[in-house]
Amino acid sequence: MVKIVNNFKRTIDAPEEGIKTRAEKISIPTFFQKRLGNVLISEKCLKLRVKEMAKEISRGKKEIYLISILKGSAVFLADLIRDMDCDVEVDFLGASSYIGEKSSGKIKIGFAPFDAKGKNIILLEDIVDTGNTLSFLKSHLLKKEKAKSVKICVLLDKPARREKNIEIDFVGFRVPDRFTVGYGLDYKQRCRNLPFVATLKKY
Ligand code: 5GP
Ligand code: MG
Repeated sequence: MVKIVNNFKRTIDAPEEGIKTRAEKISIPTFFQKRLGNVLISEKCLKLRVKEMAKEISRGKKEIYLISILKGSAVFLADLIRDMDCDVEVDFLGASSYIGEKSSGKIKIGFAPFDAKGKNIILLEDIVDTGNTLSFLKSHLLKKEKAKSVKICVLLDKPARREKNIEIDFVGFRVPDRFTVGYGLDYKQRCRNLPFVATLKKY
């Protein structure tokens, strides 16, 4: 039995079936219209919550060191740091475990041009699903890279399929067990540029 530990101050549950608006009703290119199901989190809701998260994370801090996991968290990062009023340093780390809609289970680190030794890191990820990626990366940064501390911040938490006990320090939204796209999250490298989070059809 996997215990889910979330120490964040607050999160928001995305509605199980999405908000009433179907993605088709929003003005989006035909390419997306054929593929998207319901909108789970609107653009307005994302904006408000990300602003709130920036305040939660930076409260009382003089400086923050963020490592953003590519590519999914790039959009989230761009909005988040612009609402932080302290010194922010950013690095990127390339990791992947998904092929299409399925997790391959094996995590690969690619791009990681930084020295994490002795640093207090906030690891930024688009979504935590099984927890394998973040659990692997956290232990890699602490044990191999000798970071001083690692906190985790995710935009979305999909607790239904968790396999690893992993502490998530900051969470934007809790989402149902659906494959989500938009706001940085992709399906086969597409859909990242949608300003909202939606489900894919037939998932
Ligand atoms: P985990 O290792 O926690 O199972 O998965 C983490 C990674 O899988 C995320 O960084 C993300 O790339 C991908 N992933 C998991 N669930 C989803 C989802 O619903 N949509 C998208 N686009 N990617 C997902
Ligand atoms: Mg990812």
